[in-house]
Amino acid sequence: MAYDSQNIFAKILRGEAPSFKIYEDDKTYAMMDIMPQTRGHLLILTKEGAETLLDLSVEGAQACVATAKKIAPAMLEVTKADGFIMSQFNNEIAGQTVYHVHFHLVPRYIGQTVER
Ligand code: 5GP
Repeated sequence: MAYDSQNIFAKILRGEAPSFKIYEDDKTYAMMDIMPQTRGHLLILTKEGAETLLDLSVEGAQACVATAKKIAPAMLEVTKADGFIMSQFNNEIAGQTVYHVHFHLVPRYIGQTVER
């Protein structure tokens, strides 16, 4: 499937749709998830036009992980979470709904369960 530049995350990156920005650099953009699985759920978007991890350059993937390492300590500090999940879904069968590569940072709290 060809990358669709009209997907919602591409629009957010172009400033054509709103978002709650947390962090940005030349390769990545981090924002709050609009439907958080837990309090403080963040998304890290690549700035490359890539649908899935297999379309993303190694440099783009490294940049997303570097951003996770930069922002996760503040996420944990602000939310007082006990840990977090970093996840990334590829294709519909795996639960991908937005076809622009992104990583989830989902804070986890002792005693609270989440679906994924
Ligand atoms: P996926 O299932 O593709 O890995 O995750 C897509 C994520 O994007 C979901 O957690 C969903 O809540 C989030 N999302 C979908 N549309 C928007 C939006 O317009 N803004 C923000 N901030 N998050 C969105």
